Amino acid sequence: MSKVWSLSDQTTARMEEATPEPEIKRCPFCGSVGKLEEIESEDGYRFNVYCTNVQYCGGTTSRCRSAAKAIEFWNRRFTG
Ligand SMILES: [Zn+2]
Repeated sequence: MSKVWSLSDQTTARMEEATPEPEIKRCPFCGSVGKLEEIESEDGYRFNVYCTNVQYCGGTTSRCRSAAKAIEFWNRRFTG
């Protein structure tokens, strides 16, 4: 996971503008890392976030039209 961009202010600011995707939080069920996945799909709902602990957890969002939406869904599970 690339979490290296927390310290250098100027590049950080620019990167945040360039990438509107929010940070993917850890799995609300098991605490493992959540991962964004893009799927080839004809209906346009190509993005979901799933728990990398697929064997023992299997947490996932439903597919969304944008990566940001999928991440939002995933992160929202924390607040209920
Ligand atoms: Zn999990």
